[in-house]
Amino acid sequence: MNKIELYDTTLRDGAQSEGISFSVEDKLRICEKLAELGMQFIEGGWPGANPKDMSFFAKAKALKLKNSKLVAFGSTRHALAKASADKVLKGLLDADTRYITIFGKSWDLHVKDVLKTTLEENLKMIEDSIKFLRSKGRTVFFDAEHFFDGYKENNSYALKTLKAASSAGAQRIVLCDTNGGTITSRIFEIIEEVRKEIQTPLGIHAHNDSGMAVANSIAAVQAGCIHVQGTINGYGERCGNANLVSIIANLKLKLNVDCISDLALRELTEVARFVADISNMKLPDNQPFVGNSAFAHKAGVHINAILKNPKTYEHTDPHLVGNHRRLLISELSGKSTILKKARDLDLDLGKNDEKSKKILRKLQALEHEGYHFEAAEASLELLIKRVMKKFKDFFDLEDFRVIIEKRKTGLMTSEATIKLKVGKELEHTASLGDGPVNALDSALRKALRKFYPNLSEMRLTDYKVRVLNEKAGTAAKVRVLIQSQDKTDSWWTIGVSENIIEASWQALVDSVEYKLLKDSKKQ
Ligand SMILES: [Zn+2]
Repeated sequence: MNKIELYDTTLRDGAQSEGISFSVEDKLRICEKLAELGMQFIEGGWPGANPKDMSFFAKAKALKLKNSKLVAFGSTRHALAKASADKVLKGLLDADTRYITIFGKSWDLHVKDVLKTTLEENLKMIEDSIKFLRSKGRTVFFDAEHFFDGYKENNSYALKTLKAASSAGAQRIVLCDTNGGTITSRIFEIIEEVRKEIQTPLGIHAHNDSGMAVANSIAAVQAGCIHVQGTINGYGERCGNANLVSIIANLKLKLNVDCISDLALRELTEVARFVADISNMKLPDNQPFVGNSAFAHKAGVHINAILKNPKTYEHTDPHLVGNHRRLLISELSGKSTILKKARDLDLDLGKNDEKSKKILRKLQALEHEGYHFEAAEASLELLIKRVMKKFKDFFDLEDFRVIIEKRKTGLMTSEATIKLKVGKELEHTASLGDGPVNALDSALRKALRKFYPNLSEMRLTDYKVRVLNEKAGTAAKVRVLIQSQDKTDSWWTIGVSENIIEASWQALVDSVEYKLLKDSKKQ
């Protein structure tokens, strides 16, 4: 158990996730990122079954993948056909990778009901296919599909399929819990039994249908598997594959098993977020190790304890996986959080209880109105600095007006006009936009541009609206969260009102003020 091989199948099994559709370009970018992390094997796709995957393998040749090896994936030959004439196997060879993984059936039910062939022929299909690919100079891994389910129902046949693969020269035999329904203790026992029969190094490929894929993969390693397959963030069909991000962190930090370097481990959070972004999936806040909330503390007593010793409420050091601790400001938390937050912002509240009490009272009042500063740390910073009079607004609004018009043709237009003052100078501008908030945003920037040219570096990247008291219907209060970004940072700001334009305006103003404040500190 000194060194474990990691095998990523985000680009093949992960791409089966509902809601994920990778372009060839997406796949190439993810592939490079996985290589940076030090993934030993990267399964690129199923050439032959999918023209996009063939084009990926052609283009991937130009990538610099350090020590990572690309793997092509496919099935065994068809029943009663010749391996040398089989289209799937030909597609695999055309992908031109040194490593090939083929999957074959190890559950007799599938042989009879799905392949509709004999148990004997299935063994030949496994053997022929591996021998054929090996005769072409390739290293072959064998994925024993549905192995655990097959073993539970007919262990002697399931073992025969492994023996066929082993004697044909497969370099790894990967035991798959394809339906994801096997319990952890059973995975462990079965692998121990298999090891008595099979000399070829074993791997595990677990699915998460029972919520146990990570635990099953770890148990497999403890039972003697040296090769672990999974996907970044656990993407995959149905409930997904085993999440390699959690597996890597657990192997490294809990079992002291070598799989990627300590330095690469610190990239884990970034890699998880990168792959989520490219996949157009939101990374769950509560994802272990790398989620935004994985080391976020909210309850006042927890925060109190964390400040004394982080070990009190953290199972590991967030920095080891490239994440960081967050202390959430909310009505649940007390003064110690405010003091810590102020320290983070280089503001010395010291033992000045009056000021921190004032901030706390203000926060509690705003939270009561529906503000939520956990998700809008930029607005929180501005709030604290405003209360402490450490910050002067960069502009003052005189007034704005937004006109929305719907024409008979169905065309909708939005126009915003804005009057504001920077110092003594009055600026008056108008702008069109895709919708009222966009019009207001562009009018605001247009008005400020000549005073603050650096605003051109900044753009809005996300806009979220949430209705707070749904029972009030269209008169309900809404909370608007806006994410903005420039070359180096991204930040969230908040606004709350019964009027969506007003709520958006508050968040827009904070986003611009935050950018200006941030840049003024650099000068
Ligand atoms: Zn799978």
